[in-house]
Amino acid sequence: MLGATGSIGLSTLDVIARHPQRYQAFALSGFSRLAELFALCVRHRPRYAVVPEAAAARGLQAQLRDAGLATVVLVGEAGLCQVSADPEVDAVMAAIVGAAGLRPTLAAVEAGKKILLANKEALVMSGALFMQAVRKSGSVLLPIDSEHNAIFQCLPQDHARGLAAVGVRRILLTASGGPFRQTPLEALADVTPEQACAHPNWSMGRKISVDSASMMNKGLELIEACWLFDARPAQVEVVVHPQSVIHSLVDYVDGSVLAQLGNPDMRTPIANALAWPERIDSGVAPLDLFAVARLDFEAPDEQRFPCLRLAREAAEAGDSAPAMLNAANEVAVAAFLERRIRYLEIASIIEEVLNLEPVVAVNELDAVFAADAKARALAEQWLSRHGR
Ligand code: NAD
Ligand code: MG
Repeated sequence: MLGATGSIGLSTLDVIARHPQRYQAFALSGFSRLAELFALCVRHRPRYAVVPEAAAARGLQAQLRDAGLATVVLVGEAGLCQVSADPEVDAVMAAIVGAAGLRPTLAAVEAGKKILLANKEALVMSGALFMQAVRKSGSVLLPIDSEHNAIFQCLPQDHARGLAAVGVRRILLTASGGPFRQTPLEALADVTPEQACAHPNWSMGRKISVDSASMMNKGLELIEACWLFDARPAQVEVVVHPQSVIHSLVDYVDGSVLAQLGNPDMRTPIANALAWPERIDSGVAPLDLFAVARLDFEAPDEQRFPCLRLAREAAEAGDSAPAMLNAANEVAVAAFLERRIRYLEIASIIEEVLNLEPVVAVNELDAVFAADAKARALAEQWLSRHGR
């Protein structure tokens, strides 16, 4: 479990704890919340724990030893890549947030593991290379993102033959619209990180919460859908659906539209991917359609959500554009959470970075990281000029 201490990590541990006969946590990684990581190790007794640096590793190792646990603490990206590729591991939950998850997730892909992909940024950055590595190793790639998991469930199992071959016309990617769907446009200039993180339907980490508020999350998901399902950007339509009960839909050429519904709780897609092609109890309450009562749909407002337009443009440009979009967004969101910039400046930074830097081919991982680094440097320059 790459990113065990996060929102997805904790939901995953909740699901596997319901099925001790079936699942055992082999390795748990944490980054800043190391007291929580220790508590998770006590509860789940993994073979390995992974932390970012050596001093923290020594501290955690001593704590674990005092608690009578045999868990071995590994360090950094090398430690993450080691556990991802360990021969005893069947499945890797990729739930680190952001670009930091790319190398460890790819290590799992190259080792042919079953990949439970929450870390959408990894696929957005390196889509072509990532999917090439999946095909080469024969790794099974299962989406955890609720929308992509829904699409996966609505597609036939042989969809890898191509969307046209299986009669798919369009993918309808649903979006809640986030906390600012109805905020007066003139009030957006003053919204705070707390408001951005107060999602109406989902409880998530802070970075993805801000992405949901700006709808960059839906933009990243559009790119993610193109790679996972071999779709063109124009085949993916974003549909705002404020109740977050329909998690996405697939539109077939015969006029059939298949949807997956459920309560907004990530344990459903996690359990679905963990047990696929079987089904297991996730702990999620049954959907009460009478309580839901109605399902609303509206078109996304690109004036309100410029990040969605920027992401669609990057999807269409391809090559290094999605990696740059993602990197500029990561820097901008972190700056917004630190109150160095205002909410509307997130889109300004990304747009400027994408305008300044030409799109280049990315035929190897080094080129992806070079595009990522370049975009981060340009975003930092913007911050040093305009940020607080
Ligand atoms: P989170 O912030 O709650 O957790 C992030 C995890 O990543 C933590 O375990 C943290 O220790 C680890 N981490 C952070 N920075 C790291 C670094 N530099 N190196 C190594 N580890 C690091 O985030 P989350 O909400 O659990 O989201 C995780 C991923 O799943 C993201 O890519 C997000 O887009 C995706 N996702 C989340 C949800 C959700 O409901 N939370 C839904 C769909 C997709
Ligand atoms: Mg999602």
